Formats: sequence, structure tokens, C-alpha cells
Amino acid sequence: MSIPQLFKQGRVLSLEVFPPKPDSPIEVIDKTLDRLAPLKPDYISVTYGAGGSGRSRSVEIAKKILPICKCLSHLTCVGADAAEIDSVLDSLKEAGISDIMALRGDIPKDMDAESAFVHYQHASDLITHIKNRGDFDMGAACYPEGHPQSDSLMEDIDNLKRKVDAGAQFLVTQLFFDNVLFYRFMEQLRRRGVHVPVTAGIMPVLNAAQIVRMTLLSGTSVPPELAKIIARYGDNPADFRKAGLEFAMDQVSGLMANGVQGIHLYTMNKADAITEIIKETGLR
Ligand code: FAD
Repeated sequence: MSIPQLFKQGRVLSLEVFPPKPDSPIEVIDKTLDRLAPLKPDYISVTYGAGGSGRSRSVEIAKKILPICKCLSHLTCVGADAAEIDSVLDSLKEAGISDIMALRGDIPKDMDAESAFVHYQHASDLITHIKNRGDFDMGAACYPEGHPQSDSLMEDIDNLKRKVDAGAQFLVTQLFFDNVLFYRFMEQLRRRGVHVPVTAGIMPVLNAAQIVRMTLLSGTSVPPELAKIIARYGDNPADFRKAGLEFAMDQVSGLMANGVQGIHLYTMNKADAITEIIKETGLR
């Protein structure tokens, strides 16, 4: 069953992993996958290094995921030409992957803006390319608070609609900490005529350094309850982890109570917290 079809059967649970750093053996991911498998996710996604770095690792990991569950393989187009994209698509097809998360990506450190966007400017260009090949189902990224490069959320939603019109069949959100922003975003999407399933991306925040890094990178806003956790437990790792985990569980429970179509947990390649969230919230 394809990922778009899974959404027709009910709420979808997905987990995200990333390839280990190039200087670590690829096998370090095996332990994480072994621990995520019993959680019975509907699919596991594997991220893709923008600019092609580690791309063969993404395909290798996708192959490791397939015996566990469906795999959503991320693919970015920044800095790539059609031949490079086709070569990755060929490897994925050969590996038995039929679902792709089609992304633009960010300009890699070793590339300038001019060479980054010669062949593909936006994720919608990649989606059109993949759709024309016809071998894959596709998801795309969305941003409940707007993509940081957009002037406004409405402008970003207009661009999101271009991705859906081009062939994206479901959407996965950037991480967010305030469910109200997600509910508002959903209303705006539906009003704008975007009706594909949307999965809420949740990242449990387990230490203070992680939240600073993630919010700086993604531009995600920090609601007062989370700010309070940082202020109160910033110097106490054990208490911070406990409070951060409870915050993530509350977020997931709230979304479930409000009929969310999918929950996507950013695992950071760690299974403990994810296992606790899934068990405590009744996600499985
Ligand atoms: P786009 O959809 O192209 O959007 C980028 C910007 O361009 C937005 O401001 C948008 O409004 C604007 N835009 C889009 N289309 C048009 C248009 N036609 N005309 C004018 N403006 C337009 N990065 C990785 O490197 N690897 C990964 O595996 C990865 N996985 C991710 C998974 C998720 C769920 C999310 C949310 C992000 C992920 N990213 C990943 C990060 C992503 O690559 C960056 O956020 C990137 O800056 C934008 O990618 P996009 O696909 O959303 O781009």
C-alpha cells in the first residue's frame, strides 16, 4: 500500500531517521532501526544530504528500512541537474522504494546561490520532474509558521499549493511547538484549496542546547510553557528531559484529540524517548 493510501485508512504514524555522519560506519543506524521496528510505524523516512552529500547512504538506509515497514526516502534538488536526480531515482526504484519526500533543500556550505539553483529553483520543479517519470508517490514539506524565506505565511501557502498542484500527495510539517499555530495553518490550507493529508512533525526537546539549535535553524517559535521549561530546568538535564518529554506527549495527545491525520516523530536517531511517547500517548 502506498503512503497516500495509508492516510485513507486512518491516522498515520511515521518516524524520521538520518544517515550517520560520513566518518561513522553506516551500521550504527541498525541499532536505532532495531529499536524503532517494534513500535510498528506505518513508515520511516530517511533524510537526504542537500547537494548530494551522503546520498548513497540515504539509499542504503532506505533498503534497511524496507523489511521493517514502508520507507519514505527524502530527496533534495538544490545544486543537482536532471541526470543526477534521475540517477538517484533509478537507485531508489531498483531498491524497491516507491515513496519520495520531494524537497528543494538549502544551499550547501561549499556552494554559492548562483550554482545552487541553475536546474531546479523550487521543490515544485522537482515534483514536476518526478511526476513526469511516473514511478513514485510523493510527499512535500510544509511550514505552519511559514518558510523562513517567505515574506508571509499566505505567500508560503500559495507556493505550497503549487507543490500540491504539481503532484505532492501528502504534506509533512516542519517541527512546531504550539498546536494552535498548526490548527490555524490547517484552516488556512483548507480555505486556500489544499486538501491533501497533512502530518504533524513533532520533535521531543530533551535538552536546552537542542532547542536553541532547532529554533535558530527552523525559525520555530517557542510558546510560554516551553520557555518556562527552559528557564526552570535549563541547568538540570534529568528534569529537563522529563519536562521536555511530557511537553511532547501533551502536544501529541492534543493533536490526536483534534483529529490529526498523521504524527511524524523526528527521532534524532534515538529510540528511548520516541518509545515512551508512543506508549504513553496511545499512538500505538
Ligand atoms: P520549497 O517548497 O521550494 O520552498 C522554499 C521557499 O521557496 C519557500 O519560501 C517557498 O515559499 C518558496 N517557493 C516555493 N515555490 C515557489 C515558487 N514556485 N515561486 C516562488 N517561491 C517559491 N533538507 C534536507 O537537506 N534534507 C532533508 O532530508 C530534509 N527533510 C525535510 C523534511 C521536512 C518535513 C521539512 C519540513 C524540511 C526538510 N528539509 C530537508 C529542509 C528543507 O530542505 C528546507 O526547509 C528548505 O529551505 C526548503 O525546502 P522545501 O522543499 O520546502 O522548498
